[in-house]
Amino acid sequence: MKLLVVGTGLAGLSIAERILEAGHKLTVISNLNKASSTDVATGMYNPIVFRHLNKSWMVDELTPVIHDFFSKLELKLNVAIDTPIKFFKKFPNDDYKNWWIKRQEDAEHKDYFGPIKDNHGEILNAGLVDCKKLKAAYEEYLLKEQLLINDDFDYSSLIQRDNGIFYKDEFYDKVILCEGPYAAENELWSWLPFNICKGEWITIESETEVCDFVLNAVTNVIPQGEKKFKLSSTFSWEPLDWKTTESARTSLSNDFKSLFDSPFKVIDQQAALRPTVADRRPYLGEHPEFKNLYIFNGLGSKGVMLAPYFSKHLLEHITESKPLLNEVDIIRHKKRFLNRNLDESSLDKNH
Ligand SMILES: Cc1cc2nc3c(=O)[nH]c(=O)nc-3n(C[C@H](O)[C@H](O)[C@H](O)COP(=O)(O)OP(=O)(O)OC[C@H]3O[C@@H](n4cnc5c(N)ncnc54)[C@H](O)[C@@H]3O)c2cc1C
Repeated sequence: MKLLVVGTGLAGLSIAERILEAGHKLTVISNLNKASSTDVATGMYNPIVFRHLNKSWMVDELTPVIHDFFSKLELKLNVAIDTPIKFFKKFPNDDYKNWWIKRQEDAEHKDYFGPIKDNHGEILNAGLVDCKKLKAAYEEYLLKEQLLINDDFDYSSLIQRDNGIFYKDEFYDKVILCEGPYAAENELWSWLPFNICKGEWITIESETEVCDFVLNAVTNVIPQGEKKFKLSSTFSWEPLDWKTTESARTSLSNDFKSLFDSPFKVIDQQAALRPTVADRRPYLGEHPEFKNLYIFNGLGSKGVMLAPYFSKHLLEHITESKPLLNEVDIIRHKKRFLNRNLDESSLDKNH
C-alpha cells in the first residue's frame, strides 16, 4: 500500500513509523517551520489520574507499547529520548494518603502506586520522553531517506477516486492527516468537537537544589540539572495563540514559591496549543464522506502515552480492516457531521 501522512508531531511520526514497520510505501508532508505541540511538550507519561487516584484510561495496555515503541526508535535514530523518572505525588491531606495506601494494597492498582516517603507517594511506571529531540531526529531521518516533503499541505490538490486519492498528480491508497491543533481550523474536520487548550511552562534557575526527583504538587517540578527546574504546565482557553504570557509566568512562579523558599530566576518560557477534544479520547478514523482520507488526532495532553498504541491500532484498521475501538472512532460524532454547515468546496470530488 502507498500512504501519505501529513504532520511530523507525535501523531504523524508514530503513524509514519508504523507504516514503515509494516513494509508499506510512505510519503510525509509537513511544514517544518510551523509551531507544533510536540516541540513544546514536556513529554511526561504518568499512569495515575491524581484527582480520582485512579489508573489513567487503558494504562495497562498502553504502558508496554510506550516502552517498546520509544526504545526501538532510540536504536533506529541513535538518540536517547525515553528516561524513566523518580516521580512523587505530594499528598494534600491525610485522607489522600490513606486512599493511596488502599491503592497500594489493591491488585488492580499496585503496579502504579508505589511506596510512601514522608508525605509523598511514588508513582511507578512513569517517564519522560524528549519530544522535541524525537521530532527533530525523526524529521532528519525522513529527509535522509527522501520520504519527507517540507511544505504546507494544499487541500485543494486532493482529488478523490474510488480506490484512493490523488495529491498533486501522485496517487495514494490512503491519506492520513495528523495536523494536531491545526485540524480544528480545517473544514474537513472542524465538525469534530475539538477543545483546543493552550499550555505554557517555564524553566527556572534556583539558588538551591530543591529536589532530585519529579514532584507533582500544585504543578510539576522537573529537575533539569544544575539547579534548573521546569515548572509544567498551565491550561488555558483564551486567547488560543502560541504566545507566552505574563500571567502564566506569574502563576507558575507562585506555584514554586508555595512549595520552596529558594530564590530563583526564570530563564525560559514556552507556549503551545494542545489538540484536546471534548470527550478526551483520541480521534481516529475515515472521513464520513471523503473515502480513504483518515485522521489521527485528539492526543490532548497525553500524546506520549497514546501515540505509540493508537498509531498501530489505526494502521491495522486501515490496512487489515480491523475494527476501531468505539471510544476512539470519529464515527461517534457522525451526528455532528450530518448537522454541520459545511462549505462543500473543500470536498471537491468532481476533478
Ligand atoms: C505546554 C505543553 C505541555 C505538554 N506536556 C505533555 C506531556 O508532558 N506529556 C504528553 O504526553 N503530552 C504533553 N503535551 C501534549 C502533546 O504535546 C500533544 O499531545 C502532542 O504533541 C500532539 O501531537 P500531534 O502530532 O497531534 O500535534 P503537533 O505536535 O502539533 O503536530 C502537528 C504537525 O502537523 C503539521 N501540520 C499541521 N498542519 C499542516 C499543514 N497544513 N501542512 C503541513 N504540515 C502541517 C505541523 O507542522 C506538525 O508537524 C503538552 C503540550 C503542551 C502545549
